[in-house]
Amino acid sequence: ALSEASTIWLDGALVPWQAAQTHVLTHGLHYGTGVLEGTRVFATADGPAVFRLPEHLRRLDRSARMLRMELPYSVDELTKATVDLVRANGHRDCYLRHFAFLGYGSMGLDMRFSPTTTAIASWHWQPQLPAEGGGIRVKTSSWRRNDANAVPPAAKATGPYLNSVLARREATDAGYDEALLLGPDGSVSECTGENVFAVRDGVLRTPPASAGALEGITQDTVLELARGLGVPVRVEGLLRSDLYAADEVFVGGTAAGVVPVRSLDDRELPAAPGPLTARLREAYEAAVSGADPRYRHWLTPVDR
Ligand code: PMP
Repeated sequence: ALSEASTIWLDGALVPWQAAQTHVLTHGLHYGTGVLEGTRVFATADGPAVFRLPEHLRRLDRSARMLRMELPYSVDELTKATVDLVRANGHRDCYLRHFAFLGYGSMGLDMRFSPTTTAIASWHWQPQLPAEGGGIRVKTSSWRRNDANAVPPAAKATGPYLNSVLARREATDAGYDEALLLGPDGSVSECTGENVFAVRDGVLRTPPASAGALEGITQDTVLELARGLGVPVRVEGLLRSDLYAADEVFVGGTAAGVVPVRSLDDRELPAAPGPLTARLREAYEAAVSGADPRYRHWLTPVDR
């Protein structure tokens, strides 16, 4: 639910929700010239805390550089703005959307003549994938992930999300929960808003960024948690048949969390959630809530 009573941080000021408007001739609306982040604030014993904020803001900065956009605010300034916003809105927990886009100024494709607008919004969001029946049903998409030489999938940019939107719509129209996207070379890339993981014989595997996957912060978190559990991990190319033959498959992303896959292309996985998936879900829960002291450095407290 969008929190219409709350404020939005817009170019350096906290403004009422309804005042955060933009012109219809905004460059980013026409050409997808924008970058974004999705980050979560969790309730901890010490109050609300932002999970892996520096990593999200550094990725925003990298995405902007890939697009040749100049972010008008530094990572430090955006950190302070984030804390101010969460505090002002009094959230215990929430989803955060950081974004920057080319605004009103010029309608040409030449991006040099449009100013950049930067904003941060927060709202309450339920987990974005259903988890009834033990896990989600996934279908391999007829759409391929963006080719790195068309639009870089490593940039979390607004325009390229059309790829995810098309794939998600195809999957839900066909009665599935989520789509699996293959990269231009046909190997497994990722889902529309989550990285994908496979477990076989106790080894956890996930495709690298070179497969067209976003450098997911949840992916990095899951790999670190798995290492902490003594589980061997490998970041390597996977074929769809590696997923069909896996003991467990799950997906991970900020909005979704860690979510088991029940079936892929109508092939039921042996277990959903599988035993390692269940342990990683618990470890993830303990990390984001601050319950596990080993991972408290991932939390930026808001009330201090
Ligand atoms: N892949 C895509 C395409 C995504 O949109 C997301 C969500 N940002 C992810 C992976 C997962 O990334 P993260 O764990 O950083 O949210």
